[in-house]
Formats: sequence, structure tokens, C-alpha cells
Amino acid sequence: MAERRKLVAGNWKMNGLRSALPEVQAIVAGARGLGQVDLAICPPSTLSPMVGEVLLGSPIALGGQDCHASANGAFTGDVSAEMWADLGARFVIVGHSERRQYHAETDAIVAAKAAAACRAGLSPIICVGESLAERDAGDTLSVIAGQLARSIPDEAGRPDTVIAYEPVWAIGTGRTPTLAQVEEVHQAIGRALDARFGAAGRQIRVLYGGSVKPDNAAQLMAVPGVDGALVGGASLKAADFLAIAQACA
Ligand code: PEP
Repeated sequence: MAERRKLVAGNWKMNGLRSALPEVQAIVAGARGLGQVDLAICPPSTLSPMVGEVLLGSPIALGGQDCHASANGAFTGDVSAEMWADLGARFVIVGHSERRQYHAETDAIVAAKAAAACRAGLSPIICVGESLAERDAGDTLSVIAGQLARSIPDEAGRPDTVIAYEPVWAIGTGRTPTLAQVEEVHQAIGRALDARFGAAGRQIRVLYGGSVKPDNAAQLMAVPGVDGALVGGASLKAADFLAIAQACA
């Protein structure tokens, strides 16, 4: 299997006022010497220009939490991939389960957003994951296969695309799948990317997300096929985010 450098991306969701900027400064300071892992922070849109300034000159990338499929237009409240790129972002999350659930985003919408990210020169972090009912019904692998097929546009068949496997029932709940369950899904995602995109697909990183914390990160990050983490709650505190990054490095 191709060697892929691990990536830890922090998704701040709708959290963080200007008073949170010292956490970003602490992450920048603490990340010095963490050579073997890529890091990204995805703050809320309002904080992004300020976070971008703090990250300037550091190896930590800025990411958006979502983007619109269009480059511009009459879409009140939305942010385009081009706007993220203009701000210096390198990544944008698309298809997070909270967007799928609360904003009724379908796989087709997610694919259009991922294509927009590629158009703007960003790396999309495309999220997939099963619900608890789907897991309990034994449908996890078929659900993930369908989401991958429909949510990844052809344009995203390139090495800098990122997939995040996030079981919906593990997000923000403190519950995680067993290591064997994580490995089973990551191996299946790897096979699907290989089958569809060949050599480029083998370079696509597949992150695990869902209640990654400092005390379980080392175990989760050691699972074959896990190329890093998408971290929600634990990314809000510099010490926790850095401990997770350390577990990857
Ligand atoms: C997420 O929202 O992407 C996530 C993984 O959240 P948490 O780490 O809080 O479960």
C-alpha cells in the first residue's frame, strides 16, 4: 500500500469567538517539531480571516467547513470555494453528516460542492458515514460504497482529495467503533478508491472521524488504512488537538 502522510484536521463547527484565537496561537507554537503530520484547522467562517493570519508562515493549513457549488451569485449566507481559496485556505469539508442531516444535503449536492472545491484548487474533505440503524442492520459497507460512488465527482479522483469516514453515531457522542470495524471500513474505502481512480486513488488519504480524543487517538491512528483524523470537539483545545497530532506523528 502507498505510504500516505497523516493529516489531522480540526473542525470547529459553530464554535469560537475572537477570544478563541489564543488556542490557534498555542497550536501553532506547539506544532513546531511535529514534522511527520499535516495539520489543518477549519474554523467558523467569521473567524477564518483572523485564524488565517495566525497560521500564516506556519505549516498548519486553513480549511473551510463547507462551500457552495457556485463560484458566486445570489446565495445569501453561503461561501464559495473560490472565496475560501482567496482567503488562503487549502481544504474545505463537504458532506459532513451535520450538513447532510440539518441542511438536507444529498450525495449529488455533496459531489457538486466537492467539484467546486477542485475547481478552486482546494482539497475537498468528503465525509461519508453510516447511521446507527444502518450499522445495526448490517448495511455499513453498502451504505459507504453508495455514498462514495455518488458523493465523489470524477474531478476529485486526484491525490490531494481527502475522504473522512465518520460513523454518524460516533460524532460528538464519545462512542467509537471497534478498531476492527474501523479497519474494515477503511480497507473497503481504499479498495473502492483504487478500483475507481487507480494510482491517484491509492494516494487519497482516508481520515477517521468520530469522538477522536487524546486517549484513543494512538490506537485509532495505528489502524491500517487510517491516514489521520477529522476531529470535532477535541480540536477546540490546543492541548487536546496537539496530543492527537502527536499520536499521528
Ligand atoms: C466531526 O464533527 O467531524 C467530529 C468528528 O466530531 P467529534 O470529534 O466531536 O466527534
